[in-house]
Amino acid sequence: MNIILLGPPGAGKGTQAQRLVEKLGMRQLSTGDMLRAAVKAGTPTGLAAKAVMERGELVSDEIVSALIGDELDAMGIESGAIFDGYPRTEAQAVSLEAILEERGRKLDHVIELDVNENALVDRVTGRFTCATCGAGYHDKYQQPRVPGTCDKCGGTEFKRRPDDNAETVRTRMAEYRAKTAPILPFYEARGIVSKVDGMADMNHVTAAIEDILAS
Ligand code: ADP
Ligand code: ADP
Ligand code: ZN
Repeated sequence: MNIILLGPPGAGKGTQAQRLVEKLGMRQLSTGDMLRAAVKAGTPTGLAAKAVMERGELVSDEIVSALIGDELDAMGIESGAIFDGYPRTEAQAVSLEAILEERGRKLDHVIELDVNENALVDRVTGRFTCATCGAGYHDKYQQPRVPGTCDKCGGTEFKRRPDDNAETVRTRMAEYRAKTAPILPFYEARGIVSKVDGMADMNHVTAAIEDILAS
């Protein structure tokens, strides 16, 4: 099974992808995570992407589609893929078709996380992750059970993204509206889009997605 989680920054794509990985053994392919790893490693891709990401604009279609292709090649065909934060433009959606076909995969579901934009700035600016295992948390909505200690790995160091500030979030939101939301009709025409209420609590969102995947 191959699925796309679609929604603006802070919609809950990463949170839900991590849960599906744990529950269903699927693989999360997050172009944001791949790009941050490239920036950290100082690769040519990272050097090209760093400033663009800091401004909240989109990295080039060629770069992200190449990352996705490489990541799919590195995993077995038996693992289902959760695309998190990709595709983000019509050109990426077209590339993904070819990328999947070349590898004998097909897209089963596009899950749209339907959210109220006004709530998202709060979600994004309160977000932090475990520096050791990447588990996601939030200042208000999802604190670790033991303060200062990661639930998943016991790590005690956490990090915040440089682009998770109120100003950059506005740009990222505008990019979503202008370039990403318009790809929905492309998938709607194929009857594979399901809408989930992303404002519900995290467990409800997970249950709704699992229902769709089981249908
Ligand atoms: P995305 O990957 O779509 O940008 P995340 O999954 O990182 O979004 O979620 C953004 C922040 O909001 C995280 O700190 C996460 O803990 C929190 N969050 C995710 N889903 C919900 C939800 N349904 N209700 C409240 N907070 C949530
Ligand atoms: P969020 O989960 O908050 O939506 P991501 O981690 O997916 O954010 O992306 C962070 C940044 O990385 C984006 O603002 C953009 O600059 C870049 N990026 C990630 N995925 C893509 C993509 N598919 N196309 C272009 N740029 C991307
Ligand atoms: Zn951890």
